[in-house]
Amino acid sequence: MDRDVLLMTPGPVELDSEILLAGAQPLRHHRTTDFSPIYTDCVERLKKIFKTKGELYLTLSSGTGVMETAIANMFNQGETILTVETGSFGERFTQIAKAFKLNVIPLKYQWGHRAKVEDIARMLDAHPSITGVTVTFNETSTGVHNDLKSIGKLLHERDKLFITDGVSGIAALPFDMDGWHVDVALSASQKGFLTPPGVGMIALSKRAMEKLQKVDCHGFYFDLKYYKKNQELAIPAYPWTPAISVMYQLQAALNKIERIGLDNVIGHYHHLAEGLRTALKAMGLTIFTQPNARSDVLTVINSPAGIHPKQIVGEIREKYGVLIAGGQGEIADKVFRITTIGTISEREIIATVGLLEMALVRLGYQKEPGAGMKALLTYFSK
Ligand code: PLP
Repeated sequence: MDRDVLLMTPGPVELDSEILLAGAQPLRHHRTTDFSPIYTDCVERLKKIFKTKGELYLTLSSGTGVMETAIANMFNQGETILTVETGSFGERFTQIAKAFKLNVIPLKYQWGHRAKVEDIARMLDAHPSITGVTVTFNETSTGVHNDLKSIGKLLHERDKLFITDGVSGIAALPFDMDGWHVDVALSASQKGFLTPPGVGMIALSKRAMEKLQKVDCHGFYFDLKYYKKNQELAIPAYPWTPAISVMYQLQAALNKIERIGLDNVIGHYHHLAEGLRTALKAMGLTIFTQPNARSDVLTVINSPAGIHPKQIVGEIREKYGVLIAGGQGEIADKVFRITTIGTISEREIIATVGLLEMALVRLGYQKEPGAGMKALLTYFSK
């Protein structure tokens, strides 16, 4: 593809030049006062977005690295944890926990359905040895937005460590780490934080910090005891060499989010998601995710009968340079996904819906284009 591609994928997401160019500044050494204020500024401002008075550490990794960090630092070998699976990222926690030799009890949901507090309560009753529970906040494979507030209330009452994967949810959906009793919240730079990939984030409650001291971390690079020690130095630092340029970009993105206001950013994504869903309905397309579980981060759409999602994704990418996502895991042949987060506006949703209609006409699903665009333009004109 001999041109820029518009990313309508649920991460990495589309970014603008204000953020991208911030990465082009000269490098500063990470153990000096040239860099340290950038590092501490990012940490403090991220705590505000996570809504926590706890500790927050940055990693040089993608989201999976911080998922691994959470498991490696919070549980000793042989401890029992419940992994709530509402899609492939929930399953990933099960895989990581097994790799670290924990006793893992998965709670599997039919894809497209959200986790239920009653089911988690039942599992805790049946397995009193469970010490911690993992839940995906926004399941990017299925478009499920889990209700962390209700789950957090239960886990707080039962005194269980609550870990959430907020890789695609935090900074894109309302989130309240302390208010919802989340003990470990993790995320990564490339989705809601409007930054290129490279920085992982892990926030820990007081209870999680206490647990950290009791766990013999399985590993070295992600041992949070080193992160804590370095962050408490006179010149606060990351223990190893950080992603210096990505942190410049993260700081620029945090400036932007703060300037617009986090609630406005989240409201904007909701508006775009509602517009997209209105257009899809008018086109007769159906949404894979159950109505009570739908997320504003992305919409997971059932591919019309006889059309493989790859055909739709390919049509739009090859001819027009717009990339939407195919399906993942067990629904790879059934769905395609369109994001509504990133530095995008109504303009990008209009382009994507228009191209989707053209693709579906060419692939024989629609006789003529226009129904989706009409509904979308009417919605956006209000
Ligand atoms: N968790 C969720 C919810 C995700 O959406 C992703 C990536 O898409 C990950 C974890 C894994 O993140 P990464 O690909 O950055 O390792």
